[in-house]
Amino acid sequence: MKLTGQHFIAGRRTASATETFQAINPANSETLDVPFAEADATEIDEALIAADEAYDALQTASSATIAGLLEAIADGLESVGEVLLERAHAETALPMGRLTGERGRTCNQTRIFADMARNELWRQPRIDEGDPARVPPKPDVRTMLFGVGPVVVFGASNFPLAISVAGTDTISALAARCPVVVKAHPAHPGTCEIIASVITAAVEESGLPAGTFSMVHGKTNRTGAELVQHDKVAAVAFTGSLQGGRALFDAVNQRKNPVPFYGEMGSLNPVFLLPGALELRSDEIASGLIQSVNLGVGQFCTNPGAVLGVEGVHLDAFLSAVKDAAEDVAPATMLHPGIHAAFEQGQQRIASVEGINRVGSSGQPPIADSHQATCNIYESDVSQIGKQEVSEEVFGPSSIVFKCQSTDQMIEYARSLDGHLTATIHGTDQDLKDNAALVRILQRKVGRIVFNGFPTGIEVCNAMHHGGPYPATTHSYFTSIGHHSIYRFTKPVCFQGFPDSCLPAQLKQVDVPASASGCPTP
Ligand code: NAP
Repeated sequence: MKLTGQHFIAGRRTASATETFQAINPANSETLDVPFAEADATEIDEALIAADEAYDALQTASSATIAGLLEAIADGLESVGEVLLERAHAETALPMGRLTGERGRTCNQTRIFADMARNELWRQPRIDEGDPARVPPKPDVRTMLFGVGPVVVFGASNFPLAISVAGTDTISALAARCPVVVKAHPAHPGTCEIIASVITAAVEESGLPAGTFSMVHGKTNRTGAELVQHDKVAAVAFTGSLQGGRALFDAVNQRKNPVPFYGEMGSLNPVFLLPGALELRSDEIASGLIQSVNLGVGQFCTNPGAVLGVEGVHLDAFLSAVKDAAEDVAPATMLHPGIHAAFEQGQQRIASVEGINRVGSSGQPPIADSHQATCNIYESDVSQIGKQEVSEEVFGPSSIVFKCQSTDQMIEYARSLDGHLTATIHGTDQDLKDNAALVRILQRKVGRIVFNGFPTGIEVCNAMHHGGPYPATTHSYFTSIGHHSIYRFTKPVCFQGFPDSCLPAQLKQVDVPASASGCPTP
């Protein structure tokens, strides 16, 4: 497939700007071919007006049409073939094996949402029948969910397929019958173009309006800000850094009509090593930790960045195993030069804190000019834990082990946490009983608590919750991964006193599913 560097606006490839940018292969710093256009205000306006105009047709389309659109996207991502993976590899340096797996996840999740679009259980119909004989008369009240309107999507650099143009945000918004305008990620614009061409073809095949999907390129913050401030936007889904998410969240809240902004950002994902587990399995936990810290060159929002354990021989054994395991980790290329530079700055920041020492790192040096990161594990007394230099996410293969005097000190730290995506506890059943307060405290602080595992790797399923209190996300109720991510793009509408013949099918007396009186989940 020949790349054009153009936007996709309601089915048309177009680019009017003179301002362009190019992708860089982080493995060799080579500038990749094809200049990509920066979207201007007119193009953003066209995309959002077309999205707004497509909304009504999406509401009246059959469930089979919406499901068919999503299935065609999944099929298209598979049939476009290696060209997609090769371009993603060139733009991100992620290994082909990882990208093949990520395409599988992307297609699977798209098919999950196709099923949800078909069965429409996400609409959660609720019915309170009227009772004219009651004094005063009880009105007939029926409520179900509808798509909220045009959704703007920002994907992240570290998942060029699963959290990008055809990622969960786009797919769940389409399943909820919302038109979508994507801001392509400037670190993998060619990958974005290939995926956008697949979605555009699927929209055309479905017979839905072309404005159902648009994608614009942009490398300046202006493009993102103009998108989220456009009058026709009904909701925004963002996955990326805290800095970017916060800037766009603030921009959304400055709108005349603020709209929901679902920011999914980074996290430190603390790991608590309880004494019983350390005594039984310090080597095993050390090797699992190093694998988790280095998965995808540490470029995961769920990367475990802080580890806490109680001082003593078992923690010493753990640190020694960590040192050995870290030495075996080969340096690897990061997603783009900017992320690599930020990682190096983060390492300098941590190392500059008095009392923090590096206990383990990759045995080999990085290859020059290939933006490689080495794995670095630090140790410190727990007294350093509140310092700003160590309390923020460092995106990359690095973690700090904090030595505590007691489990009470670990619990005290848990109490001081702000919002995180995950927390992990390693322990025995007895450890859990002895430290019941830890789980209770973490319930308030994070979106997912992992027991005797590691936080990286997120199952796409109905019960998954990938979220957490700010600053992990901007709304702790919602998940960005799994079936329930659809609810970000829905709004309830209540029909009071309507004749049965004029109600939506799911709210008609005859069509009410048995589960309607409860709260059916997809
Ligand atoms: P990023 O630099 O924040 O970029 C994400 C998107 O937002 C890009 O399109 C970027 O475009 C745009 N953007 C960033 N700052 C902006 C601003 N001030 N104004 C307007 N647009 C802005 O993040 P990234 O490097 O792609 O991703 C890595 C981060 O994502 C890590 O912190 C990681 O933890 C997080 N992440 C979170 C999750 C999750 O589910 N919670 C999943 C994956 C990754 P420009 O580059 O043009 O600014």
